[in-house]
Amino acid sequence: MSAGNGVEDPRLQQLVDGIVRLASGALGSRMTPSPRGDDIDAVITGVNLLAEELEYIYSDLEQRVADRTFMLQRAQAELEEMAKTDALTGLANRILLNERIQEAILASADSGTITAVLVLDLDSFKGINDSLGHGAGDIVLVEVARRLRSSVRATDTVARLGGDEFAVVITGSSTDEILLIAHRISEQLQDSVRVGPETVWAMASIGVCIGSSGYPPEALMRDADIAMYQAKAQGRNNVQLFHPDMLAAVRERLRITAELHSAVANGELALCYQPVVELASGKAIGLEALLRWHHPVRGLIMPDSFIRIAEETGLIVELGQWVLHEGVAQLGRWNETAPDLTGFRLHLNLSAAELLRRDLLEDVRDTLARNDVAPGRLVLEITETVLMSRGTAEEQILTGLRDLGVGMQIDDFGTGYSSISYLRTLPADTVKVDHTLIDDLVSDPQQQKFVAAILQLISAAGLKAIVEGIETAEQAAQLEAMGCLYGQGFYYSYPLPPEEVLDQLRSLSERL
Ligand code: C2E
Ligand code: MG
Ligand code: MG
Repeated sequence: MSAGNGVEDPRLQQLVDGIVRLASGALGSRMTPSPRGDDIDAVITGVNLLAEELEYIYSDLEQRVADRTFMLQRAQAELEEMAKTDALTGLANRILLNERIQEAILASADSGTITAVLVLDLDSFKGINDSLGHGAGDIVLVEVARRLRSSVRATDTVARLGGDEFAVVITGSSTDEILLIAHRISEQLQDSVRVGPETVWAMASIGVCIGSSGYPPEALMRDADIAMYQAKAQGRNNVQLFHPDMLAAVRERLRITAELHSAVANGELALCYQPVVELASGKAIGLEALLRWHHPVRGLIMPDSFIRIAEETGLIVELGQWVLHEGVAQLGRWNETAPDLTGFRLHLNLSAAELLRRDLLEDVRDTLARNDVAPGRLVLEITETVLMSRGTAEEQILTGLRDLGVGMQIDDFGTGYSSISYLRTLPADTVKVDHTLIDDLVSDPQQQKFVAAILQLISAAGLKAIVEGIETAEQAAQLEAMGCLYGQGFYYSYPLPPEEVLDQLRSLSERL
């Protein structure tokens, strides 16, 4: 288009440039129409109007995209938050906890500070859940979460690992401060929790691990966990700081567990027998079978080093079965080879888990019959704590065993909680008084009174007392003077292998 005089109108170039600018996205650019108001100006004004419209549509679109993006981001953040928090308590979960530990360890590399992880496990939560229901359990967990949060700074992380296990990550504090916090938490958890009309306690065993920059984050959790188990082993409701020795102990346990699995099959187990003696005559009224493990490499291992592990891993059931079969078979052999000596009863120790064996009664009955041993010749030693916490399933088995005619004995009496009224309700006929009660018997008059009272208590409950751990003639004489009829201990005989124990019985009755 020309201006009519053959000369190109400069507005045309301006128009082309303007359209190119708009096309390149500069929607804010406008052209100025000339005062002439001709066709070209009309096009310029039209293009300006179009640009205006376009600009409006664009900004509206941009705003909508921004809004949608914001909503999406928020939803994603909420999802992430949900994936990293515990729904019940609102605390961090394991994933977030691990992230926080990683961050803390990285930060401590820069700052030279330490990072602490506390692992907490409630001591009696299962009981609350079982007796009051899961709703009550949830109330307790939420309250514990609240107390934990209030015991630490906002910058520290509190997490629920699942069930009744919690963890806390503390940064920027000294070792002393961290231990102080751990004890403060422990104290906070001593207070009772109200659940409707009920009052319950949610005390915890707490393990603490403190790491500096080089500590692998996953080891920090593992070691706090090990310390927590140590706290449980120390009687619960306490705080333990991780020490490398604890790790060695865990490895040792794992090794023992693995090797114990094959000990029965490899014939590495044996029984020793220790006489239960009538104090006045020296005559054996019983023989207690005590388990020994002859390890091919490490030699003799005593039960205190493996019974607890066997109980915790469930292996005790297999061990107990072996003890029952071997002990009763041995009694059967003695009946044949030395009938003059075998007036004694055979005592076997039974762990809590064995009482839950459905086939225990049947196994005992069959084993006795197979070896031609009368049920009255067998006594099962069960610790006081096991008897007191027995449930209906155990009660049924105990009743069945008693009906069969097997004797029942309370072992380690005096180490747990015993009340007089309770003693009378325990399904037992004899009570073995724990050796710790007579340790200071000869030197401590107070202890003499105490043991005398215990002996009277047992007799008042219609039970017979056997005192274990008698090591000296003085102790034996003192106990006899107190009216105690039966005893057991190194003074009379060490636990002996079966081929030696009958000779010992003979010399005992000759000696006294
Ligand atoms: P327990 O049933 O109370 O057995 C008595 C323990 O005291 C035995 O230790 C015995 O050797 C020891 N002892 C006996 N007289 C004396 C003494 O005069 N002084 C001292 N200081 N100790 C004495 P042992 O054989 O090491 O057994 C330890 C525990 O292991 C037993 O305590 C029992 O709870 C458990 N145990 C042993 N054998 C078995 C078993 O076959 N099954 C189960 N479930 N537990 C067993
Ligand atoms: Mg015993
Ligand atoms: Mg005992």
